[in-house]
Amino acid sequence: MQELSERDIAESIDWRRRLHRYPELSGEEAATACEVADRLVASGPDRLLTGLGGTGVAAVYVGAASGPTVLIRAELDALPIEELGSPPHVSTVPGKAHLCGHDGHMATLAAVAQVLGRERPRHGRVVLLFQPAEETGAGASAVIADPRFAEIRPDLAFAYHNLPGFAVGTAVLGEGLVNCASAGMRITFLGRTAHASSPEDGISPMGALSSLMPMLTGLGGGAITDPDFARVTVTHARLGEPSFGIAPGAAELYVTLRALSNDRLRGIRWIAEEFVRVTAEEQGLSADISYRDEFDACENAAVPVGVLRRALATEGFVLDASPLPFRFSEDFGRFGAIAPSAMVFLGAGTDHAGLHNPDYDFPDDLIAPAARMFLRVIEDVLE
Ligand SMILES: [Zn+2]
Ligand SMILES: [Zn+2]
Repeated sequence: MQELSERDIAESIDWRRRLHRYPELSGEEAATACEVADRLVASGPDRLLTGLGGTGVAAVYVGAASGPTVLIRAELDALPIEELGSPPHVSTVPGKAHLCGHDGHMATLAAVAQVLGRERPRHGRVVLLFQPAEETGAGASAVIADPRFAEIRPDLAFAYHNLPGFAVGTAVLGEGLVNCASAGMRITFLGRTAHASSPEDGISPMGALSSLMPMLTGLGGGAITDPDFARVTVTHARLGEPSFGIAPGAAELYVTLRALSNDRLRGIRWIAEEFVRVTAEEQGLSADISYRDEFDACENAAVPVGVLRRALATEGFVLDASPLPFRFSEDFGRFGAIAPSAMVFLGAGTDHAGLHNPDYDFPDDLIAPAARMFLRVIEDVLE
């Protein structure tokens, strides 16, 4: 298989910086998707699908002989955070920025596309998938639920995430669980407002809110190495309105529940819901619960992990499985339900700002080694 050229690398770096200037949020990645489609068309794929699960884009490169389909995934979305770093390619959109490095993941796949455009794999097909809405956990399932996903259904699926705190050239990879299952629980309480001078005439959710917060966070516990590990984090709370004349009649609470398996998460969800129901009943309130940002646990299958291991060794990466599993969630986990899948984490630099930090910027020197790793994966499975 052909190699990446210096020009491929330079163009991908330029393109990454361009994407960085124009971030779009989860589910709203229309302009980014256009930019991606243009870039992929230039590589001359055999097929290009757009509008997958919303704004998703996929390019398909077909080998001469039949064989398996290898899917490699990148993400289109940025974050609703103001960028405080000052790279020359700083975000031009107030309050939005590529602070998870999805611009870099896209640029990596664009470099792979350049090579595939010049030379197809011998067997099978490569699908380069740019999925929407990873940050909200909605994108992967939307892409998989799209009827046209049948056209790109993989036999093996791969993805990578950059990992600040680890040197460029190191990789974190392991079989089994790599990311937690999590769910965002939104609880609303409704009582009755009253004049602030006679709060006894109303029904305030204050007591429910203040007792429920420690009850819910108390459901968490254990170290990440314990099978019973769980974390419950209150991420937002609102009681009444910002006024001095009204005793509050409504409240809202956002809580993120996290566990090592989908089953364990279901258990915690059930207990949390019971806490809410009982507390509301005691206080004479009505309560409503809804969920968003739902992530399955992300599990790496043995076969794709073996493929990645060989690719990383060929490219001279240093392997480290010690930090697994990570506490954070990844919606790549959804692909594990349809094909053997694996996600690898590639060091982004030891002194690098963390993911979602306001001064984070994807390290451009990771694009070439990451793209070479995926080219070795394609060779391994399809040559
Ligand atoms: Zn992120
Ligand atoms: Zn990310």
